[in-house]
Amino acid sequence: MAENPFFASSTLPYQLPPFAQIREEHYLPAFERGMAEQLQEVEAIANDPAPATFANTIEALERSGRILKRTATVFFSIVASDATDGIREIETEISPLLTKHRDAIHLNRALYSRIKQVTTEDPEEAWLLEKYRVDFVRAGAELSETEQERLRALNEELSTLATTFSQNLLKASTASALVVEDAKELDGLSESAVKAIEKDGKYVLPLLNFTNQPALAELTNRETRRRLYELSTGRAPENFELAIKMATLRAERAALLGYPNHAAYSVADQTAKTTEAVEEMLGKLVGPAVANARREAEALSEQAGFAIEPWDWSFYAEKVRKARYDFDSSELRPYFELDRVLKDGIFHAATELYGVTFTDRPDLAGYHPDVRAYEVFNADGSPLGLFLLDPYARPTKRGGAWMNNLVDQSHLFGELPVVMNNLNITKPAEGPTLLTFDEVNTAFHEFGHALHGLFSDVRFPRVSGTEVPRDFVEYPSQVNEMWATWPSVLANFARHHETGEPVPAELLEKMKAAEKFNQGFATVEYLAAALLDWAWHKLAPGETVLDAEAFEAAALERAGAAFALVRSRYRTNYFAHIFFDGTGGYSAGYYSYIWSEVLDAESVDWFQENGGLRRENGDHFRSTLLSVGGSRDVMDAFRAFRGRDPRIEPLLKRRGLLG
Ligand SMILES: [Zn+2]
Repeated sequence: MAENPFFASSTLPYQLPPFAQIREEHYLPAFERGMAEQLQEVEAIANDPAPATFANTIEALERSGRILKRTATVFFSIVASDATDGIREIETEISPLLTKHRDAIHLNRALYSRIKQVTTEDPEEAWLLEKYRVDFVRAGAELSETEQERLRALNEELSTLATTFSQNLLKASTASALVVEDAKELDGLSESAVKAIEKDGKYVLPLLNFTNQPALAELTNRETRRRLYELSTGRAPENFELAIKMATLRAERAALLGYPNHAAYSVADQTAKTTEAVEEMLGKLVGPAVANARREAEALSEQAGFAIEPWDWSFYAEKVRKARYDFDSSELRPYFELDRVLKDGIFHAATELYGVTFTDRPDLAGYHPDVRAYEVFNADGSPLGLFLLDPYARPTKRGGAWMNNLVDQSHLFGELPVVMNNLNITKPAEGPTLLTFDEVNTAFHEFGHALHGLFSDVRFPRVSGTEVPRDFVEYPSQVNEMWATWPSVLANFARHHETGEPVPAELLEKMKAAEKFNQGFATVEYLAAALLDWAWHKLAPGETVLDAEAFEAAALERAGAAFALVRSRYRTNYFAHIFFDGTGGYSAGYYSYIWSEVLDAESVDWFQENGGLRRENGDHFRSTLLSVGGSRDVMDAFRAFRGRDPRIEPLLKRRGLLG
């Protein structure tokens, strides 16, 4: 066997992982050696006879585990983007071992006692030192031996349950796909869309990982819509039991760590800090949002001529859009061609704002032929990092869109960032890739995360780029969405893929007018998910749930968000954000999107007040906020950017909730 490519650092530009050489059989040995190496390093730090200093303790910890970091970074990127059967088997095997490994470090008493002895005058060091201390306490460093024993067992069980949950979900996207024999039942879908899902004389429409499948807006056959909707909401029913188990175990773990419930534990190190703060925020939004959605439902039923059901919502929303605003969102698609959106839209906006430029690097390969690589440069020509894009959906890819780092920027290692975006755009059978406006918006959003990673300019990897509190991390990416509809940016990228004509001004006007419509739906769908997540994680230790579906209904009823026509964006059985990950993922954290949106709406106002797409504005955002990552209090960074504390009004106004 050739030398394992994870054993040495990559020799490719920017230390891009050598995907061409990485094979499945490399992962387990690399994980094993990586964990063993880090445990040795940690032992050496813990038992160092010299007095504890920042350099020989915290910095030494930052330097530890290089093989493990390289391996895990690539592996979990592949788990999300291209999880073949072989990869899933490795995941099942490795997840509990990694949990054990993390516990072995965090519950090392000698190590923790050294961390407590470290002092430093340097503010960046002091910030990191405090982060380490809090991480250790939150991981159970101050518990007794017996409590730690129980904690280890809980973590291991949670990790295994999470892997099963996410694997069930991946299987369900095809196992619960809509299958029809007669193309007539798919009336309303475009010819190319129907062609793309033809398989052995049948038509198989796989499920995307949220409730409201996009095809529901187009399918004219009501029965097909009902079937699709019920397949979507009923998928992976075995996950209900797993969710109950996970929520119960998380409550027990929170109690061990001294919190009344998992939600309280989860928000303690976020910018929200308390469950009351989150509840106050959600409480302000639910009533007005449901009232909006009810008004929208009336308009839809009137349009339909009967009382609509949930599977009719998208279909009639499109009809009302056409009738009321004379706007058909599918008319925009020919103007949103993927390459133009990327280069003349997303990259263009970044060049205008930050002076950065992009060069194709077709010589640098990803793990799949569809992955593209771009080198990014500062205005002065100095290299900034690499950006990889994996645009297309595939059966082995997790649903949704996300950003991840392949290499973290840090001065400690002198490394520049390598960041990735994953999207889930359907690859056309032939011809250009044309996007919906939602997909355009998502691409700008994910690139906002990418910029957060690329602009990182910090000393330590632990606080690099997007290593910020979870209820803050969505903020820079949400801000970047504003450039998708910024007139000069839109004019630059939105051109007809055949004629090169710009989008007719009239169509854009209609799109803007129609944007406010269906905000009630979007807000309720989101809030219901945030409230479900919250309810699962406010379970008291020892509290039992017998029926997950009844629990869901009761939780929404209690919060004033029960509205039969708009279901949660994710039901419990496919709520991957909160159940796919043993370390917690977004558990008790789905509120983060709207929490971040307060900062987003404030920042969009700031850009508008200051002349919008200007280099000075971009540079200010970059230097005060994007470049500092998590190396200081992020709310201080926000205040440095905005000049004051955030206010909620811009968000309420944007969402049409001011009353
Ligand atoms: Zn995001």
